[in-house]
Amino acid sequence: MRKVAIVFILAVFLPSLVLGWLAVRSLRDQELVLERQRSLFFQSVADNAASDVQYAVISHRREFVSQTEAILANGEPAVLAMNFDTLLQTNWPMAEVGFVVSPGGTLSSPSAFNRSPAAQSFVQGNGAFLCSRESAEVYWNVANNSKTGNYAGPDPNVVVANNNTAQPQAGVESKSWFLPQKKSSVQRSVNPQQQLQPPSKGDNQTNDNQVSKLAPAEAEFRQLIGDATEGTLARFVDDKLNVLFWYRSPRDSNFVFGAQLSLARFVRDMRTWIRPSEPENPGKSIWRESVSRDPICLALLDDKGRPVAISHPNFRANWKRPFVSTEVGEELPHWEVAVYLMDPVRLTQSARTLKYTLGLLIALLLLAIGVGGWLVVRDLNRQLALARQKTDFVSNVSHELKTPLTSIRMFSELLAEQRVADPAKQRSYLNIITAETARLTRLINNVLDFSRMERGEKKYNFRDADLAALVREAIGTYRPHLESAGFKLECDLPESALPVRADTDAVAQIIVNLLSNAEKYSDSRKEILVRVSRRDGPLPCAEVAVLDRGLGVPASCEERIFEQFYRAHDSLSSGIQGSGLGLTLARQIARAHGGDVVFERREGGGSCFAVRLPLVAADVRL
Ligand code: ADP
Repeated sequence: MRKVAIVFILAVFLPSLVLGWLAVRSLRDQELVLERQRSLFFQSVADNAASDVQYAVISHRREFVSQTEAILANGEPAVLAMNFDTLLQTNWPMAEVGFVVSPGGTLSSPSAFNRSPAAQSFVQGNGAFLCSRESAEVYWNVANNSKTGNYAGPDPNVVVANNNTAQPQAGVESKSWFLPQKKSSVQRSVNPQQQLQPPSKGDNQTNDNQVSKLAPAEAEFRQLIGDATEGTLARFVDDKLNVLFWYRSPRDSNFVFGAQLSLARFVRDMRTWIRPSEPENPGKSIWRESVSRDPICLALLDDKGRPVAISHPNFRANWKRPFVSTEVGEELPHWEVAVYLMDPVRLTQSARTLKYTLGLLIALLLLAIGVGGWLVVRDLNRQLALARQKTDFVSNVSHELKTPLTSIRMFSELLAEQRVADPAKQRSYLNIITAETARLTRLINNVLDFSRMERGEKKYNFRDADLAALVREAIGTYRPHLESAGFKLECDLPESALPVRADTDAVAQIIVNLLSNAEKYSDSRKEILVRVSRRDGPLPCAEVAVLDRGLGVPASCEERIFEQFYRAHDSLSSGIQGSGLGLTLARQIARAHGGDVVFERREGGGSCFAVRLPLVAADVRL
C-alpha cells in the first residue's frame, strides 16, 4: 500500500505540483511581457509627439527666416536693422522680441529709444550675451554648422539634434533639418500604479530614471554661431526659458537677425494640436496615429514639469509620474511629452483578475488531482482488503467443508463396516452425521444465496405468515442439535400471532444463522435465549432477538461484522470456523423484507442479534 502511495506521489502529485508552479511562473512572465509591450507602444506615441513638437519649433524658425527675408527685401539691412523689432512683430506675431546684432557686436534692435517692457527685459537678460561681452549656458541647435568658425564644436555632453555631417551649404535649402532625429531622445517610464500616487517630496529629487540628459554648453554668441547661417538656441534667463532664432541673410551676412519665440503663443498652438482630432476631420494632431484600446492622455510638460497643453483638459493626475514620457530636445530643453493612462487601475486590475482566475484554476486542478488521488488510493485499499477477505473466505469455506465431511466420512465408514455394535452409539453416530450434513447444507446454501444476491438473481416468495410460528418451527429443528451440544435454549414467544409478509424459508435461514452464531461464539456459558416480541412505534414491527452469553463483539467491529467476508474473530486466533457471510445474508434478507438485523451488546456479557420485520395489518388472515 505504501508503495502505491509513493508511486502516486512521485508519478502524479509531484509532477502536477511542478506543472502548477511552472504555469504560475509563465503567467507572471506573460504579464510582464504584456506590460512591456504596452509601455513600448505608448513610448512610441510619446516619441512621435515629441518629434512633432520639435518639428513645430523648427517650422517657426523657417517662418522667421522667410519673414526676415521679406523685411530685408524692402531696403538696406543696415537701415532696416534699426526698426527690425517693430517690423518683425507687425508681420509675425510669434516673435516676442526681434533683435539684430550689428557687425560691431552691438544690439541695433530693439532700439534704445523705443523699447517695450518685453524688449527691455530681453535686452537686460540677453544683451551682454548677444553682444559677446559674456559667455552663457546655452542649449543650441544649428541648421547649418559646416562652417562653425573658431567654435571648437559642441561639448560632448551637449545634445545636438541635427549634427549630420552632410550639411547643406549656406542659403541652400535642405529638407533634412525638417525631419528632426530622435536618436538621443530621453525616455522614461514608470509603473502604472505609481501614476495613482499623490505627488510627494521625492518627486522633485532626481533619480536615474528621471534625470534629463540635456546639458547646456558655456559659450559666447559669436563663437557659438561661427559662420553658420541660422539656428536655434535656448537658455534660461532668471529661471525662465528663452528660445531664440537667429539668421544671417546672404544680403549682408555681417548682420545677425534674430527673434525670441513667444512661448505663450507657441503653447496656445500646442493646445489645439494636442487635442484628439475628430475622426472625420483628422487635422494636425498626434491622435491620428495613436489609436489604442487603453485610453490615454497626452500632456506637454514644461521645464518645471507643469502641464502646458493637455489632450483631455478634465483629466487630473500626478503630472510628475507619467506612464511614459520623452523629452522634446534642445529646442525646448527639459520639456517633455508625457503619456498618462486614463484608467491605470483597469490595466492592473484586468491583469490581476486574469492572474487570480488562472491561479484559482490551477489550485482547483491540484485539489482535484489530490482528491482524485486520495479516492483512488482509498478504493485501491478497499479492493486490496476485499481481495484479502476473499482469499480468507476461500480458505475458511474449504475448512468448513472439510470438517463436517471428515466426520461424516469417519462415522459412516464405522457404521458401514458394522464395527459399532451398541445401538445407542449407532444412533448417536447417525445423529452426528445428520447434524454435520445440516451444517454443510447451511454453508452451501449461504454461499449459493450470497452469489445469487451478488448477481441480483435472488427471488423471494413473499406470503402472509406468523413470525412467532415461523420461529417456533425453526427452533424445533435446531433444538436437538443445540441440546446435544450441551446448550440450554430458552424461548420467549408471544401468545398472539405476529403477522408479517415474508419468505418463510429465507426468514428461517436468518434464525438458523443467528442460532448457529450463538452456538459458535458461546464460550463456557452455553445459554441461548430466543425472544419474539412486538415493538410499537411509528412503524410497528415484530422482533426476534437471539441472545447468548458468549464472546461478544469487539466495540470497533459492531457495524463491520455485517460486511461481506468480515470476521471479528478470525479462524486462526479464535479457532472458530466461519465464512463471514452469515450476517451479511441475514441483513440483506431482512432488508429485502423492509426490516433489518441489528446488534446490541447484552448486559451481563454476550451478544444480542435482533431481526426486525414490519408488521402487517392485524386483520390479515394467516
Ligand atoms: P461467520 O461465518 O464468521 O460466523 P458471520 O457473518 O455470521 O460469519 O459473522 C460475522 C462475524 O461476526 C463473525 O466472524 C464474528 O466475529 C461475529 N459474530 C457473529 N455472531 C456473533 C455472536 N453471537 N457473538 C460474537 N460474535 C459474533
